[in-house]
Amino acid sequence: MSVVYWLGDRLYLNITNRCPNRCYFCIRNFADGVGGFNLRLKREPAVSEVIKALEEVVNRRFWAEVVFCGFGEPTERLDCILEVSRWLKRYFNIQVRLDTNGQGYLLNEGREVLRELKEAGVDKVSVSLNAHNEETYNAVCRPTFKNAYKEVVRFIGEAVRLLETEVTAVDIPQVDLAKVEEIAESLGAVFRRRRYYFPAL
Ligand code: SF4
Repeated sequence: MSVVYWLGDRLYLNITNRCPNRCYFCIRNFADGVGGFNLRLKREPAVSEVIKALEEVVNRRFWAEVVFCGFGEPTERLDCILEVSRWLKRYFNIQVRLDTNGQGYLLNEGREVLRELKEAGVDKVSVSLNAHNEETYNAVCRPTFKNAYKEVVRFIGEAVRLLETEVTAVDIPQVDLAKVEEIAESLGAVFRRRRYYFPAL
């Protein structure tokens, strides 16, 4: 199992396999990992294990950024993100990004998720909105939380005030990408279309 993996000049951190969604297009439905790395965790790594895994590769060559993006939703382990980000910023001049489904507040009730992320050194968030309305979101992402879509939109609206914010959507037939882009721009975020690689349509 890989806690740290890389694709091109980006270093990724796989800290959890948990997620409150069950997106039908999720890569976990079709593969054990990406780029030859097995991302199925037998258990979640402790913060010290994440840092140890990073220490082995972070100086190996130039990395454009370190990205929390595993086979699950990283904000399931908010404190791990915060500790590892603080460690990275203490010792390295490197951009830190969080790839998230935007449900951090639902998963961490009572926490000031975005402010805490910013203070820990996270520079950028990439939020998977993945739908142009709630009905579509519920159909394609199959969230556990009933109000997930509204909360993701709210998360994006707050994120743009604190961090560089990108909104993404996977290019699948159910989703009107132009409308998602409109929503992203109306909230003040940049939009990025993600290609759908896996055969389940
Ligand atoms: S939110 Fe991401 S990790 Fe979770 S099921 Fe959807 S694609 Fe997979």
